[in-house]
Amino acid sequence: MTHESLFTQENIHKAAVAWKECLSIIKPEVPEGTFNSWFRPIKAIDVNDLTLKIQVPNSFFWEWIEGRYSKLLHKAVKNVLGHEARLDYVILEEKDSPAPYVESAPKSSRITISEEPSKASDYSESNLKPNYTFENFIKGEGNQLATAAAMAISENPGGTPFNPLFVYGGVGLGKTHLIQAAGNSIYGNFPEKKIKYISTEQFTIDFVDAIKKNMHNEFSNVYKNYDVLILDDIQHLIGKEKTQDLFFHIFNIFHQNKKQIIISSDKPPKDLKGLNDRLISRFNWGLTVDIQPPDLETRIAILSKKAESFGIMLSNDMVEYIANHITSNIRELEGCLIKILANVSLKSADISLEQVKRAVKEVSTAKRVNISIDVITRTVAEFFTIDEKKIRDKTRRQEIVHARQVAMYLSRTMTKSGLKNIGLHFGGRDHSTVIHACESVEKMLTDDPSFKDTLNDLKIKIELACS
Ligand code: ADP
Ligand code: MG
Repeated sequence: MTHESLFTQENIHKAAVAWKECLSIIKPEVPEGTFNSWFRPIKAIDVNDLTLKIQVPNSFFWEWIEGRYSKLLHKAVKNVLGHEARLDYVILEEKDSPAPYVESAPKSSRITISEEPSKASDYSESNLKPNYTFENFIKGEGNQLATAAAMAISENPGGTPFNPLFVYGGVGLGKTHLIQAAGNSIYGNFPEKKIKYISTEQFTIDFVDAIKKNMHNEFSNVYKNYDVLILDDIQHLIGKEKTQDLFFHIFNIFHQNKKQIIISSDKPPKDLKGLNDRLISRFNWGLTVDIQPPDLETRIAILSKKAESFGIMLSNDMVEYIANHITSNIRELEGCLIKILANVSLKSADISLEQVKRAVKEVSTAKRVNISIDVITRTVAEFFTIDEKKIRDKTRRQEIVHARQVAMYLSRTMTKSGLKNIGLHFGGRDHSTVIHACESVEKMLTDDPSFKDTLNDLKIKIELACS
């Protein structure tokens, strides 16, 4: 179909009639709220060659509708226009995207044209990523409470006692995904609500910029206009007094007006030293929930789902191998799959367990940068219940020598430090002592297979201490 044939008055009229009939088929099949929020805002704008063209406010809307109601929509169109009929979407949005464009899909296609959206708020202004949804978020023990709270506020933003919702937890555990899922779900339930997701770093940069341009008031007015504010990684407000003051002001307005605030942080409020006490006390008005690292079962579930979505076929052995070796962080599980995917697509070979092991190793190596000899020494000392100082000094007692050699070996394999530096950390010993320690540990590993498990436990403890 050419663009010239689009949107003639006659076609628009015919399309409206056909769409009205489709709506009468759809209406009895969906809840009234869904019908009003999601089907009523759709306009039919063209019909041609058995293709009905409908217009939706933005791409999120399109994904939402296609994801949930594609069967029903296609059934309705076929009923009205005949068995061969198909549906095209026209997306109104993203002012700076090139428009119009047509994207073909087997059953339906979409066009984007530049125009002001109708009733629904502008999704593209929210900064949300459409794929950060609850559907894509695997629930497990570690994130159960946080997920339940996020889902509860999505049903009733600003109307639950969970305002603010404060989610905290370590790196790569799903904070950003979860708080954005709440935003996406709110948009799904209340498309008219103006939602803003922003990282605290960006919020600070924008604010400083506004001050420079003497547009401080305009800046806060823009924020006061939102219905839902999602501020990610609030620990970055520490030490930024002026931005904290502004956020305090915005927070109060949101709270007074029963508008939802969602915050994430790497620590609980009480540990955010350097953040104004009055802000911390405000955070305690709502609900504070943590996200813990995923257990083995959850890691397996996440890997299986992600592998499927990446189109990678992994055997149970492979999934278990990864889940057993990458333990503390979901971003690394993903990183591992991406490495596997890169190898597979480059060489288009079947995936072998060897490849999987290599990917796991590469991901773990990349992480070593952040592991310090001090943490290794402390963890090894705790593990063998000996005094950390003794590992560093000259004691030659057998059990201390053993712990020291293990610590040296782990420093050699888990960090990028050279032999000389490692020697310096352990009481100024010379590099040949470090080589000797590594050789002794390697010999123990071949002589005593159970020692390997001990070392693996230690490695996990060290990684957790550094994450
Ligand atoms: P954080 O903000 O805590 O550092 P992210 O939300 O950025 O972590 O998560 C890192 C990656 O892991 C993201 O790609 C996210 O989609 C994924 N992820 C985290 N938790 C889950 C989960 N429970 N289910 C599926 N994917 C997850
Ligand atoms: Mg994050």
